[in-house]
Amino acid sequence: MRIRAEQLLLEDGWAHDVLVTVGADGRIAAIGPAGDDEAADRTVPVLLPALSNLHSHTFQRAMAGLTEIRGPHGRDSFWTWRVLMYRFLDVLTPDDIETIAAFAFMEMLEAGFGAVAEFHYLHHAPSGASYDDLGELSSRIAAAAVATGIGLTLLPVHYRTGGLDGRPLAGGQQRFGNDLERFLKLVERSKAIVGSLPADTSLGLAPHSLRAAPADDIRVLAAALPDGPFHIHAAEQEAEIEEVLAATGRRSIEWLLKNFEIDERWCLIHATHMTEAETDALARSGAVAGLCPVTEANLGDGIFEGVAFLEAGGSFGIGSDSNIRISAIEELRQLEYSQRLKHRGRSMLAGPGGSVGRRLYDGALRGGARALGREADAIRVGAFADLVALDPTRFAGSGKRDGLLDGWIFTGSREAVTDVWSAGRHVVREGRHIDAEALTRRYRAVLADVMARL
Ligand code: ZN
Repeated sequence: MRIRAEQLLLEDGWAHDVLVTVGADGRIAAIGPAGDDEAADRTVPVLLPALSNLHSHTFQRAMAGLTEIRGPHGRDSFWTWRVLMYRFLDVLTPDDIETIAAFAFMEMLEAGFGAVAEFHYLHHAPSGASYDDLGELSSRIAAAAVATGIGLTLLPVHYRTGGLDGRPLAGGQQRFGNDLERFLKLVERSKAIVGSLPADTSLGLAPHSLRAAPADDIRVLAAALPDGPFHIHAAEQEAEIEEVLAATGRRSIEWLLKNFEIDERWCLIHATHMTEAETDALARSGAVAGLCPVTEANLGDGIFEGVAFLEAGGSFGIGSDSNIRISAIEELRQLEYSQRLKHRGRSMLAGPGGSVGRRLYDGALRGGARALGREADAIRVGAFADLVALDPTRFAGSGKRDGLLDGWIFTGSREAVTDVWSAGRHVVREGRHIDAEALTRRYRAVLADVMARL
């Protein structure tokens, strides 16, 4: 596959009229001047490296729009939302879960993501009993990824306790739960599943959170897959930090930094509530802050310490988390706007004299690829060809170089995406996924059926 681009964002900046050759292995084989070469398979006005979506729970896509009704008592919060989420997942079958995942993956691709880390904690039947195949639901996620062509980093999630006091799982949590022994068997099963998928697929591990995974278990998991991505939800909710503080005398991120060698393979999802010292130490650790600004706003979590974290040299990426709205650029826009509202200033996350859009896109590109353990951090020879083409007439701004990114992020929508390649798989063409009609039809049918069962 040869793609000719009029404007192209390379590792060291913008290039013009370039031919990118993608090998049969899904990696970029050559980048060179297009010259008079008319033999391109596809010519696009703008070609960017596609972002990796570092945090998703695909099943929650089917709840989008259902939880915007205020309850009769008190204030709605993350915790009241969670009650609804548990009720919802009580009725989902493996078929439902696969269909919803495929639809969400399709939307991610159409929004310009090339790959996703699925933080997969839904493992068992509603009773908590495992399916005949312990990896039944992991296989469903894998099948959805293969069906859509998205690059997958599968993160089997360890969820053992209902709180830091070790209380047992209740109600909807039964589907998540494993003791350590069963979870390690699931990890082995997941290795086999990932081994049967395309070569750009990766496996990582994820203790769910400090409330759901005991410290000793986190230690075992960190050693179980010593080189793979390692993700954990951290400091999303203030109530959770209070609980960690009461149990350990330290705040969540402070405790993690003290007890583990947090390094580049770690991704701390949310990392919303941090002191100055935590912000600085997390930035220096090399870990990726896994930000999900649209979900965090929707759930009322709070605002990340973005300015201080970037000034301290921190790495970040973005995730669509609850999938209430799947859009790479809306995550970036929300991230910047949250900082503007917090600090009452403009261009908060740009470097001096630099473009906000470029800084956001570069940061999310590198941090996302690192968090997925995916060689897709730039358009460069040898990297996976995770690429997105844009129609610059679909948004405002100069349409040139960094102005393209500023225009797309602040004035555009995901509808500006015309083509997406994931590890060379050309799965979005003319703005739609190549199998959009069938994937959407199946999803609509499942959604209607699930709603009838709720
Ligand atoms: Zn999450």
